Amino acid sequence: MKISELYEKKKRSLSFEIFPPKKDSELKNIDATLEVLCELKPDFISVTFGAGGSSNYNRTIELARKIKYEYHVEPVVHLTCLSYDRAEIDSFIEVLNSEGIQNVLALRGDRNPKLPEKDDFRHASDLISYLKQNGDFCIAGACYAECHPESENRVSEMKYLKRKVDAGAQLLLSQLFFDNEKFFHFVDDCRIAGIDVPVIPGIMPVINAAQIRRMVTMCGASFPERFQKIIHKYEDNREALFDAGMSYALSQIIDLLVNDIDGIHLYTMNNPVVAGKICEGIRNII
Ligand code: FAD
Repeated sequence: MKISELYEKKKRSLSFEIFPPKKDSELKNIDATLEVLCELKPDFISVTFGAGGSSNYNRTIELARKIKYEYHVEPVVHLTCLSYDRAEIDSFIEVLNSEGIQNVLALRGDRNPKLPEKDDFRHASDLISYLKQNGDFCIAGACYAECHPESENRVSEMKYLKRKVDAGAQLLLSQLFFDNEKFFHFVDDCRIAGIDVPVIPGIMPVINAAQIRRMVTMCGASFPERFQKIIHKYEDNREALFDAGMSYALSQIIDLLVNDIDGIHLYTMNNPVVAGKICEGIRNII
């Protein structure tokens, strides 16, 4: 099923992001996570793609295939393009078709000095146009409530985001954020810019101090004072930080839901306990 059908039926989606385990030995263990996640009946599960070589993509596909055919949940496969040429993207398209994968999150990918960049796809919008012309996928794009770190300003960010949607992105999945007001303003800006596809907020429950430090350097999300207080108070107390981080994420999600957003996309970090507790907290609300 193409996940765009969900939104055509005005359904509010619940979805998860997971990543393929790095080692062969861990691929078996992913079943324990998938069993819990799929019992929560998500509308889709997206599978990340660590850029750098087609063998990486095989892992993403392997996991997506498992989700679709063993767990009967719709997968969304992430695909980056900056380090691939047309022939490589063509072979990814072939694999997606042969596996019956219908949903793709089309991304540029982060710049990485260790990975040479190619010229065929400089931006996600180039990949989106190409997938649109050369496949029959539901295409999602990435968006950033607080601007992508490389963006000059919000105006150019909106201009290029609109380009992605005009190229064929049927929904947008957001980078994680901790301040809902920033997300609400972002959605307003999208609507003003004529971007009328569903914009799904990405939420990551923060449950340990190392994760918080990684977040600060990686995605540049701002930390509202209420959240900073939690971190300062509990960063040396694992159990307390877990409880407080979960409660914070839940309160963020409930606030988003009462404001009629199009869905919730949960960054699970492959942790089924986290996903389970969040879903338990919103079972009668979503
Ligand atoms: P783009 O849409 O190309 O945007 C990147 C920057 O270029 C922005 O500043 C944009 O404003 C600007 N821009 C866009 N078009 C133009 C243009 N025509 N001219 C000039 N500037 C332009 N990375 C992975 O490697 N694997 C993953 O699985 C993965 N999953 C992700 C999932 C989500 C939901 C999100 C939000 C991000 C994910 N990423 C992943 C990270 C993503 O690859 C990076 O954030 C990357 O730096 C940008 O990707 P993009 O698709 O948003 O790029």
